[in-house]
Amino acid sequence: MIATNHEEALKDPIFSTISDAAKELSVDSYVIGGFVRDYLLKRGIPKDIDIVAIGSGIELAKLVAKKLPGSSEVSVFKNFGTAMIKFKEIEIEFVGARKESYHRDSRKPVVEDGSLEDDQKRRDFTINALAISLNSRDYGQLLDPFDGIGDLKRQLIKTPLDPDLTYSDDPLRMMRAIRFATQLNFIIHPESLQAISDNKERIKIISNERIVDELHKILASKKPSLGFSLLHQTGLLSFIMPELVALEGIEEIEGQRHKDNFWHTLEVVDNIAENTENVWLRWAALLHDIGKAPTKKFDKKIGWTFHAHEFIGAKMVYKLFKRLRLPLNDKMKFVQKMVLMSSRPIVLSEDFVTDSAVRRLIFDAGDHVEDLMTLCEADITTKNPKKQKRYKNNFKIVRQKIEEVEERDHVRNFQPPVSGEEIMKTFDLKPSKEIGIIKEAIKEAILEGEIPNEYEAAYALMLKKGKEMGLVSQ
Ligand code: ATP
Ligand code: MG
Repeated sequence: MIATNHEEALKDPIFSTISDAAKELSVDSYVIGGFVRDYLLKRGIPKDIDIVAIGSGIELAKLVAKKLPGSSEVSVFKNFGTAMIKFKEIEIEFVGARKESYHRDSRKPVVEDGSLEDDQKRRDFTINALAISLNSRDYGQLLDPFDGIGDLKRQLIKTPLDPDLTYSDDPLRMMRAIRFATQLNFIIHPESLQAISDNKERIKIISNERIVDELHKILASKKPSLGFSLLHQTGLLSFIMPELVALEGIEEIEGQRHKDNFWHTLEVVDNIAENTENVWLRWAALLHDIGKAPTKKFDKKIGWTFHAHEFIGAKMVYKLFKRLRLPLNDKMKFVQKMVLMSSRPIVLSEDFVTDSAVRRLIFDAGDHVEDLMTLCEADITTKNPKKQKRYKNNFKIVRQKIEEVEERDHVRNFQPPVSGEEIMKTFDLKPSKEIGIIKEAIKEAILEGEIPNEYEAAYALMLKKGKEMGLVSQ
């Protein structure tokens, strides 16, 4: 249901302050865009407010800041004619109403002063062009020249003007359309969808940072597959992430088929979205199979194989992050690690689960072992109820084992119980490869369960190993 009491939207005292300031400057002002849309959809209190002034937005911002004790300094973006103040957790953005026209090679428009309606026309979607008056003569009145209310009810993403021109003028809007459709679970109007397909190539003029912002928002949604299938359907995905598109399709040789790894991936992303808010883990789900396209082979004896796809996939993660200007920091490393290890728990769960296999899993995954399990469980997309049940059950066993083994052996963030220094001291060694060999032998013995993860046992093994190597203890 759509909220109908528009004055209620203005109950925050901020709005009467803005209204007073605008009156003092003799300019009209309106709250517009996302705040109005989200209020009407009852999506909770929006954290950002966009104000349009019929006059100078910057002057209005300055006066409002003066009237709001505790607000931040005014940040002025002269080139855009906008100004922003922060008050408590809220960002209030001010802009003077404007009329825009575009050149083909840029998403930077030529701007002139305009009326409220001019300003509403330059907005991307009818549901984002809704405004509520802050003027005393019609305070709280909704101004909706493009039937945005109707589109909210119809759950429709539609442009106020010709969609072809709207997307061509600013191709970022194609990403925004798909992002809003995903976040709100709305349909994109068929003409809009067609116009996005027609203009897909123009996405090239948009910076990767902006594209990634939208991808993050799609991935953070309740059902990210909605967005990715729209990106795919319109052809945008081929420009943004061709590695994913390469996963699409099923091949059959000698009656043997493999699954469609693109649609499988989207299912995995939806599955994981039910179990984690961690957007990087969701990225890992999106990319966990990208190594399958370049490694796919048919073998007469075994059928379809994707040998070392996890390893190739992890390398592709780096390239993709670099290209899209995603951070190349610990987040990227985390995604790489998840991709690299993405088959480990499944392999485990197919077999009888030994303690040493679980110890190795914990050792290799470290603090990310729970995330890895979450990823691998999301990876179960079989439609065969028997198999589904078996896998889920096996995962339960693996999880239990992880807990037991971890409690007993503490191999997470493994620290060798005997240090290199102690080995050097015991055998009077200088730094040398012998120390590495002994340390490795101790680690292996612990992971294999031959000795407990304790000092005494490790010390004894060190002496034994040293003797075997002909070293003399001091
Ligand atoms: P959210 O903040 O949830 O992403 P929003 O609608 O508030 O949604 P913003 O990016 O904050 O989105 O933009 C505020 C408003 O500015 C929008 O509601 C829309 O009216 C307008 N707008 C933003 N980007 C564009 C664009 N590329 N083209 C046209 N109008 C835009
Ligand atoms: Mg906003």
